[in-house]
Amino acid sequence: MVQQNNEFSIIRQYFNASTRTPRKDVALAIGDDCAITEIKANQRLAITTDTLVEGIHFFSDIDPADLAYKAVAVNLSDLAAMGAEPAWISLALTLPKVDHRWLATFSRSFFEILDHYNVDLIGGDTTKGPLSISITAHGLLPRDKALCRHGAEKGDWIYVTGSLGDSAAGLALLQQKRGQNTDTALSQAETYLIERHLRPVPRVLFGQSIAPYASAAIDISDGLLADLSHILQRSAVSASLKLDKLPLSPQLIAVFGVEKAEQFALAGGEDYELCFTVADKNCAKLERELTHIGVDYTCIGQIRSQNANKMIRLKRGAEKVALPDVQGFEHF
Ligand code: ADP
Ligand code: MG
Repeated sequence: MVQQNNEFSIIRQYFNASTRTPRKDVALAIGDDCAITEIKANQRLAITTDTLVEGIHFFSDIDPADLAYKAVAVNLSDLAAMGAEPAWISLALTLPKVDHRWLATFSRSFFEILDHYNVDLIGGDTTKGPLSISITAHGLLPRDKALCRHGAEKGDWIYVTGSLGDSAAGLALLQQKRGQNTDTALSQAETYLIERHLRPVPRVLFGQSIAPYASAAIDISDGLLADLSHILQRSAVSASLKLDKLPLSPQLIAVFGVEKAEQFALAGGEDYELCFTVADKNCAKLERELTHIGVDYTCIGQIRSQNANKMIRLKRGAEKVALPDVQGFEHF
């Protein structure tokens, strides 16, 4: 096949190429000035955008399959944090040059994750420039159910899904590896941590399942302390956390030890786990609802009344621990 390099042939070849039956709620997809979609009368839309820029969010030699996966996953994670069901996305792709091998790998991985979550690519934009990927994702919300940051109340229990800190640890390992000239073999635990960084699993079903019972939620993209603080600020409350309850993976502890693992869990970014709060009276119902989801979750603390001086208090057992001087990732 003769490969063309103009914008329209790239779109046709790589992004208008889904082999899956399109969703019934897409009336008009790629090819016109806008896409047209349908929503039911009892639904609302949740909309989010995330951009990944070369050199800031990923190394320039990243496998395009990992890049495509992550660009979609971080957007689906935002929808999950609202309790929304992912439906459609658009893709703004800026490329320094037309590299057909790169594009083929990127697009295959892109449609793989879209197909897994039954999401349609409905449009986008293709431009030349420094490599960057910007995705807007649309999710469907039942009209009376949304999981926001502002609903946490004094006495609510604080939970997180999965384990924390693995992704930041995986990134540290990737950085270490780049600093070495020799190609040392990775242990199983190290491979696991790097995988958790490159392929975070958005908690899509989990988010929808807790939506009726949780009082607030956020996905952990900038680190537990930073993201929990967003819930606390929006809800005008404070929190106490139990350090000994933080879910740490055996792999993280094996590679970095407990102390460093705790730091990664509190302040490391890009876990894409959910942090959510639940009123005591809803805990039993929530646990019943979650028995079939197959995702671990852990209670790590409790919401307290507003405290302007100390938004988060840490304890190990009965002992108070000073809050580490850390901030989540902040671009400016
Ligand atoms: P316009 O100039 O009207 O904005 P374009 O010529 O940029 O439209 O794009 C043509 C069609 O291709 C549109 O439907 C647009 O949404 C779609 N499109 C462009 N780039 C991409 C992409 N990377 N992925 C998916 N669809 C795309
Ligand atoms: Mg147009």
